[in-house]
Amino acid sequence: MIKEKVNLNWNELKFSYIKTDYRFLSFYRNGIWDEGNLIESNELILNEGSPILHYGQGAFEGLKAFTQKNGSIAIFRPDMNCKRLNLSAKRLLMPEIKEDKFLDALEKVIKSNYRWIPPYGVDASFYLRPFEIGIGENLGVKPANEYLFYVFGVPVGPYFKEGFKPVSMIVSEFDRAAPKGTGNVKVGGNYAASLLPHEKAIDEGYSDCIYLDPRENKYIEEAGAANFFGITKDGRFLTPKSDSILQSITRLSLMQIAEDQLKLKVEETKIPIDSLDQFVEAGACGTAAVITPIGKIKYKDKEFVFYDNGKSAGPITTKLYNILLSIQRGEIQDKYNWVYIVNI
Ligand SMILES: *Cc1c(COP(=O)(O)O)cnc(C)c1O
Repeated sequence: MIKEKVNLNWNELKFSYIKTDYRFLSFYRNGIWDEGNLIESNELILNEGSPILHYGQGAFEGLKAFTQKNGSIAIFRPDMNCKRLNLSAKRLLMPEIKEDKFLDALEKVIKSNYRWIPPYGVDASFYLRPFEIGIGENLGVKPANEYLFYVFGVPVGPYFKEGFKPVSMIVSEFDRAAPKGTGNVKVGGNYAASLLPHEKAIDEGYSDCIYLDPRENKYIEEAGAANFFGITKDGRFLTPKSDSILQSITRLSLMQIAEDQLKLKVEETKIPIDSLDQFVEAGACGTAAVITPIGKIKYKDKEFVFYDNGKSAGPITTKLYNILLSIQRGEIQDKYNWVYIVNI
């Protein structure tokens, strides 16, 4: 295996597509998955009738691998992404992918693209994008007969180039998902529907929008394509409880860290949008940015402002961020067994 790295300016990476050397592809036909293999081409040829193209029968995941302090390469909680992909697959009547197969695909993509994996000590990681889609000849609205499972990986820098700085968000007029729809699964349609609300937020000078619950339009649901959390004046970590949000693995991890290491009371609860003044800090969490501190939230003609007048990240948000990142980079003990080591 090639042990040299590509000649990239690791600290200048953005969160954008770069073609790496290999990707994993496997097909499901006649009721079984083939073994799958690594391929070099980054283009897919699909039948024009493929259900993914017309009816959005497809789901994806996003997770990161890091070079740790001791040089090993670790993937953060891949078992959780596999479970979630299967939850999405089940909702769209797509076949399940066994955890062995999922992990094996990730490992193959990491090993074969070793030279693209950012080294330790730079503000970058290797983003993995697994997905499953319905393909093959089809016309009517029905599940596909054939599927493919695919994983590619890209070296990425920080999601927000300004770094760990608070952003402003505005509450959207749109709903993100229907009450018993597909908000709790990572399926393409949700994101196509989010493009317009996102663009509107940008046009109004905000970095993203906050969605309210689709039933009453009263409670906070999500912060763009990330989960929301807030720290109350009396030191509680609150995050929305809802059946129509996507259960973030970053959020689950932060909840555990908040409770065990920062000794905060953690509550998954309904958060009325007009109760935002109970928070001294707020943030959005997800794999891409880990945490995005939220400085301000605009709702109708009101503006809620958090720590330091929205100018810097609060102390608890900062601690949560640093602890999670240190676990991912192998700088502190991973007592939860969250990192999955890839034997290179
Ligand atoms: C992917 C995603 C998240 C973040 O989930 P992680 O597992 O933390 O990456 C949150 N909300 C939405 C809508 C998402 O698609």
